[in-house]
Amino acid sequence: MAKILIVGEVHNGELLEATLELVTLARNVGGELSSLVIGSGVAAVAEELSKKGGGKVLLADDAFLENYTVDAYTQVICKAIDAESPDLVLIPNTSSGWDVAGKLAAKLDTGIATDVIRIEEDGGDLVFIRRMFNAKFDARLRLAGSPRIATVQPGACEAFEGTEAGSVEALDVSGLESRTKFVELRQAPAGGHDLTKAEFVISGGRGLQKPENFEQLLKPLVEALGAQMGASRPVVDAGWLPHDYQVGTSGQIVSPKLYIAIGISGAIQHLVGMKNSNYIIAINKDADAPIFEVADLGVVADLFEIVPALTEAAVAAKS
Ligand SMILES: Cc1cc2nc3c(=O)[nH]c(=O)nc-3n(C[C@H](O)[C@H](O)[C@H](O)COP(=O)(O)OP(=O)(O)OC[C@H]3O[C@@H](n4cnc5c(N)ncnc54)[C@H](O)[C@@H]3O)c2cc1C
Repeated sequence: MAKILIVGEVHNGELLEATLELVTLARNVGGELSSLVIGSGVAAVAEELSKKGGGKVLLADDAFLENYTVDAYTQVICKAIDAESPDLVLIPNTSSGWDVAGKLAAKLDTGIATDVIRIEEDGGDLVFIRRMFNAKFDARLRLAGSPRIATVQPGACEAFEGTEAGSVEALDVSGLESRTKFVELRQAPAGGHDLTKAEFVISGGRGLQKPENFEQLLKPLVEALGAQMGASRPVVDAGWLPHDYQVGTSGQIVSPKLYIAIGISGAIQHLVGMKNSNYIIAINKDADAPIFEVADLGVVADLFEIVPALTEAAVAAKS
């Protein structure tokens, strides 16, 4: 039976939902479960995790751990590994999770799989599944070494809400040292392009091919329907639209009444940001695009034909 350690993540004093998703994944794998909460003044978060996730929760609470540094957090996780001797360590695939997991694997000289969406048992061994090439292929990885380490895509599982409360135990975090120092946290100014409260979002992806098409093709439709414009990450990375237009794990999480995805393939990082929309329409010329798996209405068509026709119909209906 596997022993699994979940490394929880805390943002602004709150437990990240991705931590409870790891509990679901760990319970599906099966085995003895413990988790770790790291921070300063986070006892209430550990209590919350023990109530919702069950199992033993190790609490690493120290002023030194108030802000994330890869050095200090790696040492704390190593202490938890020494205490629990897990076969598998699960970490959310967030920017800090990604950062610490790599360092941890190097320090322990063990195998790591990143961006995992599923773990299966196969012939007595664990197989880690991750998407590749915009979800066109699934890679199946077996890891050498112990403990095995996996970072898991937020949104890959439902968050677990248990009924059996677990227990919280303090982890000794004395003697921590860090060569990296937290300097400051810079947050994007509030009041930008806020999509989180929008009722109607129309997002464009790489399928729009060039920045002018957002202005000349997508914007008229967005305006005719009184929506707000969103985008996938490649659009933002290419500088076609500002970052606050991005929907997804590293952008905004939206839940409008209506979400229209145009020329977006539906990579898991995008789906996480919009799958809770009330009604989803997807327009894509590839009938096998993963976006259709979450769409309530799928339109297999060339966006350069359908978007102008939709805009014309919307304008006509208004007048
Ligand atoms: C750590 C990490 C975080 C990430 N965070 C995010 C995030 O927050 N948000 C996000 O969106 N992505 C994110 N990504 C990127 C993500 O993995 C995908 O690469 C991205 O979502 C793909 O964007 P896309 O669908 O616009 O482009 P593509 O995957 O290239 O898809 C373009 C689609 O347009 C369709 N198309 C092309 N021409 C036409 C046409 N004429 N008519 C109709 N359809 C057409 C194609 O069939 C295709 O399906 C992240 C990746 C990583 C590794």
